[in-house]
Amino acid sequence: MRRRLIVGNWKMCGDFRTNQKRLEDLSSLWFGVHQTEVSVSPAYPYLAQAAGMLENTNISLCAQDVSTRENGAFTGEVSAAMLADMGCRYVMVGHSERRHYHNEGYDLIAEKFQAVCEAKMIPILCLGETTADREADRTFDVIGRQLLKVVNACGLEGLAKGVVAYEPIWAIGTGRAATPEQAQDVHSYIREILGPEGEQIRILYGGSVKPDTAEGLFAKKDIDGALVGGASLDARDFVAICRAA
Ligand code: PGA
Repeated sequence: MRRRLIVGNWKMCGDFRTNQKRLEDLSSLWFGVHQTEVSVSPAYPYLAQAAGMLENTNISLCAQDVSTRENGAFTGEVSAAMLADMGCRYVMVGHSERRHYHNEGYDLIAEKFQAVCEAKMIPILCLGETTADREADRTFDVIGRQLLKVVNACGLEGLAKGVVAYEPIWAIGTGRAATPEQAQDVHSYIREILGPEGEQIRILYGGSVKPDTAEGLFAKKDIDGALVGGASLDARDFVAICRAA
């Protein structure tokens, strides 16, 4: 049984006051015992604020990125040890915005994945194809390559310590989510590549997930939850998505 997981990716949005209100709303709306696991990911400077406010709630903390370096003279970097120290349970690696705007390549992403595991947190490996890839029928190739780079570095047992998030780039922030069938096709392909080990790995879908599209996506057998950007900034919408799971 794979426990459903919904992660709110706040990206570089918010400020101290807005976050405070959102965290208050979230913890009261998501009060109680739930089957579905929920995590939120504020920007680095607000991790401490969120950690404090989420203490004694059933919502965990996720970081958006991590350095591969150990603590030391690396100005501007944030280590896995620091994220673990702040109480993060999850860390995203290889989000398409990191791959695109920061030129993060396969090797670096695999190293980040490993650094997160070594610090006893759970990496969320993000994968996704561009519009051009999809139109040229390269979706499976691209996803397979992104996935296998990490499998080659960490092994299947290594990958099984993490979560995979399929996020087609054309669906992120566009309001045009993949259809449940499109997402399911890629999710089942990912599970197929991973073999028997893949049965226990949670595969999330991300890209314009909204309360009204969530249910259809979660009805598919290989979709184990979602990585939610825009809709996670509204506590009610986010909780509606969590409930749909
Ligand atoms: P979106 O973002 O829900 O705003 O499309 C998803 C993501 O980038 O993780």
